[in-house]
Amino acid sequence: MEKKAKEIHEIQILIAEDEEDIAEITRHFLEDAGYSVDVAYNGREALEKIDSSTDLVLLDVMLPEIDGYEVCRQLRSKSETEEIPVIFLTAKSEDDDQIQGLNLGGDDYIVKPSTMEVILARVQSALRRAHVSEVKTIELLGLTLYPKQYKALINGENLHLTFTEFQLINCLVRHPSQIFTRDELLEMVWHDDALTVTNRTIDVHMKNLRDKLGDFSGYIETIWGIGYRFNGQESLSG
Ligand code: CA
Repeated sequence: MEKKAKEIHEIQILIAEDEEDIAEITRHFLEDAGYSVDVAYNGREALEKIDSSTDLVLLDVMLPEIDGYEVCRQLRSKSETEEIPVIFLTAKSEDDDQIQGLNLGGDDYIVKPSTMEVILARVQSALRRAHVSEVKTIELLGLTLYPKQYKALINGENLHLTFTEFQLINCLVRHPSQIFTRDELLEMVWHDDALTVTNRTIDVHMKNLRDKLGDFSGYIETIWGIGYRFNGQESLSG
């Protein structure tokens, strides 16, 4: 299951960190969470490795050769890299440093030492704000999702999903086997409009989505009393 999630994410994270132990622990943790991770041990190497395929940078401030602030400044000055989310890693906790990082275009900062759980939560949050995880095309089990066009194909055939149906399947597929409560789906799909939507509305959209999935409706599993999840395993065996 973990391997499948890795194929789905395809999200590229660059860690710029000169302390090898920290870099390696962080790399392994993020890889286990399904991300594709590369490490640069100084600022020059980071600038060489970051390109338009990079989805997020974890950027240590105190780096050899070129420091993190300057790396961020250079990323923001090129159209190819100006929109990549940058999270600063700083061992210093002074407010001035954090403000400087954010002024230079950093999206967030994490004060070291930090737990891996905090780093992962910040990474997920920054990717969500940048809509990175939602815009990458996914192919899995004959199902292809094109988020930019809100289009879903099964074995090449267009399912003609509505915007809401697409958002629902996109959300479930990108977190395979994770169970979503109806409240979580409201939050992820309807965002600020969540208050105007009821749980019953979700069930109606899910039914319509399943009808369109036809023989593949088993992909979407109802977890009684809780919510829904995408279950690729079930569909394969069944
Ligand atoms: Ca450092």
